[in-house]
Amino acid sequence: MPIYEYVCPEGHDRFEKLSPMSKGEAASCPVCGEVSPRVISMFSARVAVGAGVGASSAPMAGGGSSCACGGSGCC
Ligand SMILES: [Zn+2]
Repeated sequence: MPIYEYVCPEGHDRFEKLSPMSKGEAASCPVCGEVSPRVISMFSARVAVGAGVGASSAPMAGGGSSCACGGSGCC
């Protein structure tokens, strides 16, 4: 299950949350309850950069597909 990272718009600490499937677009800040947008974690960003050098077929908003097919259509 992927762990998504969120940043509070009010400036509180960023926090992480386990999100099943594609339900991870936003979450409430544990401090103030403000809806916080999801951000790309360090780990995901690094993977995206590495995969984007040769092919730009990395899923951008697909909800975190981790299939190893490389975008050949199996998923
Ligand atoms: Zn907050």
